[in-house]
Amino acid sequence: MKDHDHYTMQDPVSQYPKATNEWKQKQPEPGLQKEMMPVPDSGETSYHGSGRLAGRKAVVTGADSGIGRAVAIAYAREGADILLSYLPEEEADAKEVVKLIEETGRKANAMPGDLQDEQYCEQLITSAVEKLGGIDILANVAGKQQYVEDIADLTTEQFDATFKSNVYSMFWLCKAAVKHMKPGSSIINTSSIQAYKPSPILLDYATTKAAINTFSKALAQQVASKGIRVNIVAPGPVWTPLQVAGGQPTEKLAEFGSNTPLGRAGQPVEMAPAYVFLASQESSYISGETLNANGGTPSP
Ligand code: NAD
Ligand code: MG
Repeated sequence: MKDHDHYTMQDPVSQYPKATNEWKQKQPEPGLQKEMMPVPDSGETSYHGSGRLAGRKAVVTGADSGIGRAVAIAYAREGADILLSYLPEEEADAKEVVKLIEETGRKANAMPGDLQDEQYCEQLITSAVEKLGGIDILANVAGKQQYVEDIADLTTEQFDATFKSNVYSMFWLCKAAVKHMKPGSSIINTSSIQAYKPSPILLDYATTKAAINTFSKALAQQVASKGIRVNIVAPGPVWTPLQVAGGQPTEKLAEFGSNTPLGRAGQPVEMAPAYVFLASQESSYISGETLNANGGTPSP
């Protein structure tokens, strides 16, 4: 999948493979992209930049794998320097991203840590200001998803950890970043189709994704007069470690994405253009908006 052509006109239905029985696999949380089979396409060879973010300074969370990795690679190829956040266990994936960014001639500052910790979130923004010289883009892509079939088995610990990872971290990072952002800066938060079409087994996760939409739409209005825009990307089923590391029952991975109108799962690189567009000046009159990148499922 890695040498895929992302630019020539072609049928999106067959652009990437559909899930098969081989997609059934299981890793412990948070999972490693390099151990997935097939390895997802995060744009390593397929995303080409064109200077749309020249000179920008960006913080990307979850930048080691999946969608965050695709965003980090795309932002660097569009000309931005990057501060990467990820969990310490994900160093093997993150190293590859750092190398790919450095090959573009941009800065890649790696800062592993736990986004459930408010101090780490504050330090991430302080580090961006110190090491990159400021922050123009905050892409909150990190997220936690662990399926639980029955509310009786959903622990307070998990409910808390999902909210801390997905909602509180976004609050802490936005709060710290806004203090440093100049007019023209952009925040992009990551929701999900789960915000509108929640799976019964993703009670905690789906609820955080609805909260992310609403938080972003309120914050967008609050900071508009400072010249800061806040938008959201809401992916549908995308082939990433999240899904094979407890995000879905393993059995279901054989048909992952087949219920979308396009009939297949998305690849992380297919999410990157949405994050680039919302970060760039091209989206100057768009704020408080959710861009649904979900294979054609109708969404509000
Ligand atoms: P992924 O596993 O590749 O990325 C998630 C990342 O979140 C991890 O790599 C990890 O670095 C980070 N993370 C999680 N908990 C953390 C913590 N406590 N501290 C620091 N980092 C932490 O999977 P992905 O699918 O690319 O996920 C990216 C985003 O996309 C998530 O917000 C997810 O909810 C969202 N999303 C994914 C899908 C999908 O089908 N893959 C669909 C809709 C939305
Ligand atoms: Mg990861």
